[in-house]
Amino acid sequence: MIIGVINSGSSSLKFKLFNDGVVVQNIIVQNIGRDNSAISYGSSKSNLQNISNHKEALMAIFNSIELESIEILAHRVVHGGEFFIEPTIIDDLVIEKLKSLKNLNPLHNEINLSGILLVRALNPRLKQIALFDTAFHFTIPEEAYLYAINPEYYTKYKIRKYGFHGLSHSYLTKATAKFLQKSVEDLNIITLHLGNGSSACAIKNGKSIDTSMGFTPLEGLVMGSRCGDIDAGVIFYMQRELGLSIDEVENILNKSSGMVALAGTNDMRKVNDELSLNVFTRRIKKYIGAYIALLGRVDAIIFSGGIGENSPIIRDKTIDNFAFDIKIDDEKNIKNETIISTTKSSVKILVIPTDEELEIIKQIEENPRFKVL
Ligand code: ADP
Repeated sequence: MIIGVINSGSSSLKFKLFNDGVVVQNIIVQNIGRDNSAISYGSSKSNLQNISNHKEALMAIFNSIELESIEILAHRVVHGGEFFIEPTIIDDLVIEKLKSLKNLNPLHNEINLSGILLVRALNPRLKQIALFDTAFHFTIPEEAYLYAINPEYYTKYKIRKYGFHGLSHSYLTKATAKFLQKSVEDLNIITLHLGNGSSACAIKNGKSIDTSMGFTPLEGLVMGSRCGDIDAGVIFYMQRELGLSIDEVENILNKSSGMVALAGTNDMRKVNDELSLNVFTRRIKKYIGAYIALLGRVDAIIFSGGIGENSPIIRDKTIDNFAFDIKIDDEKNIKNETIISTTKSSVKILVIPTDEELEIIKQIEENPRFKVL
């Protein structure tokens, strides 16, 4: 089966074409809307191009492939709310529901929806399937997803923890089970997706039972440009005392906080300021500790995402001086080996590259409903 996968970030768009589960084309558009926007095909160097939005990025991709040859076009959609908990064929009704979810995550869902609608206009017969970043976290229990505010905010307005990066956490669960030769149903792990956006997930018997991102991707770990957990009182103070509007505060906390604010860059390769690194890793350590308490038995802690896969310093600082006898092997860590814990460590520490697009393909190919398409 020939399946195209579209994975849009806020300023990037990745497209992969799979033929029977094997990647045959890989196109990445980066820095969309900025002066240095660029497109790269396969392993070739990226060409600077003037790409001002996601629609233009998609058009550039579609100009270089045969849209007609694709049997299914799959989209990673960030927010599925409580509607969408499995891969979903996109029809008029689904589009209406996606529109109704736009308020929950305006930036990301708008990008996803505009891509879906563009493809519909270009080739109405092409089957499109949406896979949701929130879906993997649908197993989180009520006591974890409810905020301690009047339950009416949940029942009436759907304010609750949703969690994101679900395709990545799901991929890492399966990859870890395979690596440890355990069944997924038997697996208790803590996955750390550390990229521009970062999240931690507690996985019990193969299912998400808690995760650090919340109602929006703003909650939880310190990220490239998001602050993560913060006292909500700061938001009121910024408005009242600093005279900032609600939109300005939202922008600050999402786009110019985190590493951008602390270290002046969201490129972790360039951050060597001790304090910023300590703020970043201390937060991760706190979540790992909390998740160990929730899980009881932990088979492994998994580092993944651009930072988790490539940064020995971040991994070292996160695990350094950890309670419960969890220990990193410095040599293995520096070499980016798959197992980086010492043989005496009470919990295995693994480095596993994530692959959201492959997870999308697996979920489609393993789902009997899509066999007949
Ligand atoms: P996205 O969330 O945009 O998919 P990635 O998973 O690609 O992001 O991660 C991007 C982050 O990974 C950036 O902070 C980048 O600096 C960091 N990163 C990439 N390579 C390295 C490396 N060798 N060492 C440290 N950080 C790295």
